[in-house]
Amino acid sequence: SHRTYLERNPKSQTAYQDSFAYLPGGNTRTVIHADPFPLTFAKGEGSTLISVDGHRYLDLLGEFSAGIFGHSDPRIANSINEAMTGGWNYGGTCTYEKELAKKACERFGPSGLELVRFTNSGTEANTMAIATALNITGRKKILVFSSGYHGGTLVFPLSVMKGEMVAPMNLPHDFVYAPYNNIRETREIPDHLPPDSLAAILVEPIQGSGGCRPAGRRFLHFLRTEAHERKALLIMDEVMSSRLGYSGCSAEMNIRADLMTLGKYLGGGMTIGAFGGRKDIMELFDPTKSKLFHPGTYNNNVFSMAAGITGLDIYNASEVHRLNNLGEELKEDIQAILMHHGLYPDSYPSPRVGLVEIDSLQTGTKAYIEDHPDKLLQLPSMFVTGRGSMINVRFSGPDASQWQALFYHHMLERNINI
Ligand code: PMP
Repeated sequence: SHRTYLERNPKSQTAYQDSFAYLPGGNTRTVIHADPFPLTFAKGEGSTLISVDGHRYLDLLGEFSAGIFGHSDPRIANSINEAMTGGWNYGGTCTYEKELAKKACERFGPSGLELVRFTNSGTEANTMAIATALNITGRKKILVFSSGYHGGTLVFPLSVMKGEMVAPMNLPHDFVYAPYNNIRETREIPDHLPPDSLAAILVEPIQGSGGCRPAGRRFLHFLRTEAHERKALLIMDEVMSSRLGYSGCSAEMNIRADLMTLGKYLGGGMTIGAFGGRKDIMELFDPTKSKLFHPGTYNNNVFSMAAGITGLDIYNASEVHRLNNLGEELKEDIQAILMHHGLYPDSYPSPRVGLVEIDSLQTGTKAYIEDHPDKLLQLPSMFVTGRGSMINVRFSGPDASQWQALFYHHMLERNINI
């Protein structure tokens, strides 16, 4: 018999309700919310997540790309345990820090990483990269792109911020907004700015949160040239995309950034971010030159540094290749299924006219259809985007966001976390 989401997950529901007394929204990360309540997890093992209600899920989300090593890789665990035996919170430098920096610069050098500084998150890394660009150029404006995501305080919706459902809480920078992947329209924008006002261009080589949309090679080369000609800095946000190439995505595209930002898997699954790039710029963080200031209590915490060193060893060139191939195969398989069912945008004549009855997030598919024969949604089209190991399944059509939520629950019912 069919059990509803509520019936299957009473402990998650209780956990959610109980946490409201202390956490607005019941948790501390906006993006992990799901209606009617998100699952609470008790344990992670390899690629499996186990909820407080005891259900096991195959985890395809992988901590929004940071979880390359799964939830309990013994090699990562060992490196953290080893670091722990030496104690922590030195308030001074540690040996791990240099080792991770060396590995990062050797590896991402072809993308432009000559010198590096660590942070606690990708958000911080991008904030520091922007601050660096403003400081060294003495200019104010930063060119950013539609659907760009550079951290919790650097979010750029598809259409320019006009009362979106979730209001971006961006740091007050002088952002100039351009359409991603559109050379023709982007080209005109800097010409309308006051002369010598553009400090930086900040871009993801493939948008992650924006729907796994790769930038065209020509678009990125155009930005590289544009930044160079206007004496602005090109900041490549590779927090998510760096997993796609051994030396990062920029190197794959034959582009060297002035500054690049990293994060996610760089810490082996522990908290981390990094920014770095051209030696002549990053050298200004040398306190003996007393130019640029970058403190941070946990920047060099031993756990992130130690786990990161091990993580970079594990995620070597052949692993990068293997994961990308798995991703491409999965993408092709999903695409074939969608086409088979006539859901892929190209596989049916438009406009579509069908209406389907749907389930509710509260009660599960079958129960909802029985209870609400009046609830009808437009048939969506469904497509899969991404490159290599970065994949996203999306819906389009008037009811896209409801379909997205239904798809999420549909997969959860099949013990798959997406
Ligand atoms: N930039 C990109 C491209 C990201 O995908 C993310 C995280 N989703 C960030 C920056 C922010 O990183 P963090 O969540 O570690 O602050």
